[in-house]
This record gives sequence, C-alpha cells and structure tokens, in this order.
Amino acid sequence: MSSKLTIALAPGDGIGPEIMDAVMHVFDAAGVLDHLDFKDAPMGDRVFATGNTSGIADEAIDLIEDTGLIFKGPMGTPVGGGGKSINVTLRKTFGAFANLRHFQSLPGVETVFSRAGVPVDFYVVRENVEDTYGGIEHRLTNDVVECLRLISAPGCDQVARFAFETAHKLGLKTVHCGHKANIMKMTDGLFLERFKLIGEDYPDLEKGDVIIDALCMNLVLRPDKYEMVVLPNLQGDIVSDLAAGLVGGLGFAPSANIGDRVSIFEAVHGTAPDIAGKGVANPTSLLLSGLIMLRHVGLAKQAAIINNALLRTLESGVHTGDVKGDGEPVGTRAFAEAIAANLGKTPETCVPRVVGTQDKVDHTTPPRPQTNRMMHTFENVVTQHLGADIYIESPLSPLELAEKLQRAAEHTPFALTNISNRGTQVWPSGSVYTELADHHGCRFELRDPAMAGALGVQPCVKLLGRIAEKFEVVSFTPLKSFDGARGFSLAQGQ
Ligand code: NAD
Repeated sequence: MSSKLTIALAPGDGIGPEIMDAVMHVFDAAGVLDHLDFKDAPMGDRVFATGNTSGIADEAIDLIEDTGLIFKGPMGTPVGGGGKSINVTLRKTFGAFANLRHFQSLPGVETVFSRAGVPVDFYVVRENVEDTYGGIEHRLTNDVVECLRLISAPGCDQVARFAFETAHKLGLKTVHCGHKANIMKMTDGLFLERFKLIGEDYPDLEKGDVIIDALCMNLVLRPDKYEMVVLPNLQGDIVSDLAAGLVGGLGFAPSANIGDRVSIFEAVHGTAPDIAGKGVANPTSLLLSGLIMLRHVGLAKQAAIINNALLRTLESGVHTGDVKGDGEPVGTRAFAEAIAANLGKTPETCVPRVVGTQDKVDHTTPPRPQTNRMMHTFENVVTQHLGADIYIESPLSPLELAEKLQRAAEHTPFALTNISNRGTQVWPSGSVYTELADHHGCRFELRDPAMAGALGVQPCVKLLGRIAEKFEVVSFTPLKSFDGARGFSLAQGQ
C-alpha cells in the first residue's frame, strides 16, 4: 500500500490537460510526487458525453469522498441540455464553504499598479454555498420573478472562522468584512454581525467592515489598503474577478474551496476553447492553486520553493503569450520547464517566499460522515407568530386591494397593516408616483399584540385560505419574532 497521500485529479477540459501536465512537470521536478499520489477522477466533457448531466462520474464522487481532496483544471459547462456547472455542484455537494483567493502582483506581469509602483497583495474569502447561489428562483406572476436569498448563521460562522484562522496562519494583521448591510439589514446584517462576533475570538487581529460599493472603489484606488476581505457569495464572486483584474487577469488568480471534509483546488479561469490544444496556455493560475493545496496538506517547503522559482521565471522575462512583456512568449511546456530549472533560486526584484522546514505531509483525511450534519448556531430561541406576509398577483389599485383584503380578514385575529409593491409601501400611505408591478406584498398583523405567543402558524394558514378564495396567492411568509426581536424587514416608507 502506498504511504503517499492520495488526491483526486481532474485535469479538466479545453486547455485543462495542457496546464495540468505543466503543473505536474513542476511538481515532479520539486519532489512533490514523492509525497502525493494523484488519481484520475473522471468528470467534465467526457462524462457529459455519456449522458450524465452532472458531468461527474460515480467513481469520481467515490474518490473525492475517500480522499477529501481534489485538484482540478477548468471544466466546460454545456450550454443548454440540462448540464450543470461541475464547479458549483462540487462546492455545494461537498460543503466547500469558503473560497480563498490570493491576489498578488507578480514580477514581469505588467498592470496599472505595477507601473505605478503600488504592490497588490491581498486575499478574498468568499462564502461559497449560500446566498443567491442557492439558485432558488420562481416566476410568481406574469411580470415578476424572485430569487430567494438564504443566509444562515452557521454558514456565516464557518466562513468567518475560516477567514480569521487563515489570516492567523498567514501572519496577516487585518481582516475586513465586505457587505451591503445598510440595505439588506437582515441577510448581510447577519453576515456582518457573525463576522464581528466570531472575530472576538481573535483579539490580535484588527477587524474592519466596508460597504461593498465603497470596497470596490477602494480596491481600484488603493488595493494596498486591504490584507483580507470576507464577503457573501455573490458579492465575493464579483470582487474576486475585480481583484483578478488588478493583478493582471484571471490567469494569475489561484483559488481554493475549503470545507470541513472536502477541499477543492482549482484554476479560476475557464477552458479557453480559443487556444485549447495549441500549447500556449498559461499554467500560472493552476500552479498557484496547486501551491495553496501543497500548503494545505503540509508541503509548505516545496510550495515556497516552487513559488520562488515561478517568481524568478516571470521576472527573468519568460512568459506565455497572454502576458504583456518584452521578448517572444514561450509555450506552456517551455514555461513549466523554465520554472523547473529555477527550482532552488529566489527572485531578485520582489520579496521571496520564506522557505521553511515543513516538507512532510501533515494532513489527516476526515472520515466519511454517516449522515448529513445539522449545524446550529442559535438554540432555545423563543419564537412568536405575529402575522403573515401574503403575496398576491393582482391588477387592482392599492386602495381597491386594501378594501377587499380588509373584508377578507374580518373576524380573523389579523388586520391588514401594509401593502407594498416591489418593497415600497403603497398603502396605507404612499405616493401615486410609485409605479406598480402585478405583485403585491400584503402584510397582516395581530389585531391584539398581546395574543402573540398564544397562536402558532395555523391561524395564519387559515387567513391564507380566506385570502386565496378571493385572490391569486403566489407566496406566503409567516411573520415571527425571535427572542422578542422582529424577524422581518419593514417596507420602504413603512
Ligand atoms: P475562459 O476563462 O475560458 O476564457 C476567457 C479568455 O481568457 C479567453 O480569451 C482565453 O483564451 C483566455 N484564457 C483563459 N485562461 C487562460 C490561460 N490559462 N492562459 C491564457 N489565456 C487564457 O472563459 P470563457 O471563454 O467564458 O469560458 C469557456 C468555458 O469555460 C465555458 O464552458 C465556461 O463555462 C467554462 N468555465 C469554467 C470555469 C472553471 O472550470 N473553473 C471557470 C470559468 C468558465
């Protein structure tokens, strides 16, 4: 039996096999393959072609569950035909909840900032499984669709703790939370609140928070202001690509998706079909992702040696065709050979990576879980039902609607308190300037607040039944308080 650590390997589609081959060449030259055993995990085009719409073969799933680690190249997502994005499927199925990306200026890679002499070196930690990426979407009325944005307290806690732990290991001083809690007070508000709370366990780290729009401007003006930014999924996705642009593009941005049991290391760019098979693709992003993986499993010394060889290669002017630079570009393989030839050398124009002594695998594969883990953050919370938001499709004016809804709610414990349209109050007060869509949020609250606690959800469901007799109901959300705090937002103007 091999004493090496096994890692599932999926070279990917398009340029994937070429850049993976280049990375393996460097790994081999650096002695990494004495410690790691890469096993083929079939996924991507070749699996989609068999009619498997997940694009991931069962044996690949088995291998990932066994090893808990996968190193992958880019995968194509079939357009149409029901094929799903393999990347999103892997992250979500295996609970790889944190996406870590490192953005750093590289010698020989010319950018606006390198020309201005401003070094860029920061990390983005993006929550990876929640938010609008749940893809929970419905068409509710003729004219209105919705996307349900779920943010959970344990999901926030996991990603915040991962960020602080990683900042610690990397020797960073400051961690920022990027958010839009000024508008999305409950969802982004929870993300920020948990960040602050978990941060209390890391007193030696400085914490800051920044609204997402300001963050984007700051990153473009002063990227050196940040060391690490933690963000919810969609905002993190956008900021990650913005950050990649600061350091020369997606070809230089490594990515790791870390979970408690399974972690995925991958290049962030796609399959580059326009250059596939030509031997000209840049393997840097995949190589840097591989270096995060080496550090993750304990091969920190090898990672630093390879990193220094890469920096030395780039500063010496050896580059692939996608990089602006002097001299003729080289192909993928020649670039990898140049890195291999520079192993043991350090860069002269930038700070070299510190080569420590940790050069043995230090990683335990977590056991396969027997059942799904239920995560809890808040327990023993006292909840009380206060009413319901009932959403209806209707062409009526707010006044007409209010009259009919009030009649329908007669002799129930609930009174109509508000009608909103796309989140703006249009009844009892509002402006005739507010344009309406065919989707109304009708808020019913207990006539006697003292009854809160005496009622469960059933009276709200009864009310729903009465409203549904007269209106086209499209969705329903109970209104609750949690330990006495209101668990719902107010409409704009309410
Ligand atoms: P892409 O990243 O493949 O290509 C965009 C441009 O960047 C192209 O001009 C390409 O030649 C260039 N490029 C990308 N990587 C390069 C590299 N390593 N070296 C040199 N040039 C490089 O994006 P796309 O064209 O929008 O997507 C193509 C396919 O990749 C799609 O099927 C998409 O779904 C998939 N995709 C996969 C991933 C992933 O697996 N992580 C990510 C993004 C896109």
